[in-house]
Amino acid sequence: MLFCPKCAACGASSARIEVIAPHELPDQWPLWPASRRELFATYRDPSAYRLLYEGPGGSNGLAGDALDPQRAAAIIAAFAGSPATGMIMASGIHDGAGWCPTCRAFYCADHWSLSSTGHGRCPKGHSRSLDPHWHP
Ligand SMILES: [Zn+2]
Ligand SMILES: [Zn+2]
Repeated sequence: MLFCPKCAACGASSARIEVIAPHELPDQWPLWPASRRELFATYRDPSAYRLLYEGPGGSNGLAGDALDPQRAAAIIAAFAGSPATGMIMASGIHDGAGWCPTCRAFYCADHWSLSSTGHGRCPKGHSRSLDPHWHP
């Protein structure tokens, strides 16, 4: 399942969140180079959920991370419906996919005006940390 929240300022995707169910393949699989398919197949446990994430604070790499079913459900719940701060935080996505809890809106990395330390400021001046290092 693929979620791409839109930046409230420019309409670009603020993040790309893909939850891959057990035994399924990533959405972009046919377009991936053979090297990435091999990498993914090497690290991926086919019986487990897998997360591929890219957001303003960084990505979890070409092969992604394993997800337990509870966390997979929490991510789907957070991004499938209308966004709510509590559910986004509960999903464990470290940078919140670019969510500003004060604006109740998503912003892309450009509109977070990210500093090298991962500190961001949304277009309305709310600041938060979007650590560039992924913590699963
Ligand atoms: Zn933007
Ligand atoms: Zn804001």
